[in-house]
Amino acid sequence: MPRAGPVPGWMTWLLAGAMLAGLAGGAAGVAASPAAGPLAGTLIVVDPGHGGIDRGACHLPSDTIESEITLEFAFLLKRLLQAEGARVLLTRTTDEELDLDPRVEIANANRADYFLSVHVNWFPDPTCFGAQTFYFPGREESRRLALLIQDELQRLDPENFREIQTGRYRVLRLARMPAALVELGFVDSPHDRAFLKDPGKREQMARAIITGLTRHRRGEAGPEPPPELRDR
Ligand SMILES: [Zn+2]
Repeated sequence: MPRAGPVPGWMTWLLAGAMLAGLAGGAAGVAASPAAGPLAGTLIVVDPGHGGIDRGACHLPSDTIESEITLEFAFLLKRLLQAEGARVLLTRTTDEELDLDPRVEIANANRADYFLSVHVNWFPDPTCFGAQTFYFPGREESRRLALLIQDELQRLDPENFREIQTGRYRVLRLARMPAALVELGFVDSPHDRAFLKDPGKREQMARAIITGLTRHRRGEAGPEPPPELRDR
């Protein structure tokens, strides 16, 4: 959710990110890339949604808090992406408030190759479940990225019938690179909480997203959804 007002510290982040990118991965915050790896030479900005007083979607009986899950998941993605050779910047690394524009500006200023925003969904019906990937309408590379990520998420959870969907989210609109927003699951769904709360399954989800991104990097075409479910 966008919030009004300046956010102290974001400019520092932006400058720090630019400097780190300029140092070709030699400084703290951007680990040195392995010489090889399918994502070598790729800079990926991972954006953990929400933070601070904005906790996002919550299911309090199970202590499922979106802003906590997204931050932990972002660190997990960072570690696994680095193992594939990528350099990674997180838009936030603590439980802090951060407006939407600085998040995407970190990606634009550093000329990142990808922008991945991570969220958790909610719906007041516990039978509503399934991870889902969003992209900004009309952005073909972002659409292909979303298709490939969603394909991998569906492989991991064959019960997940959700297809990619357009979303006019500000961070997706402002990103100047292929960008996707992944809703990892619904906090109200026991089915999805089984994924969100289990460290092993979380890692499988992170690996699924990375496989989708790697397939995009290789130039694969995304598997098209049935026509009636396309580009809603
Ligand atoms: Zn969210």
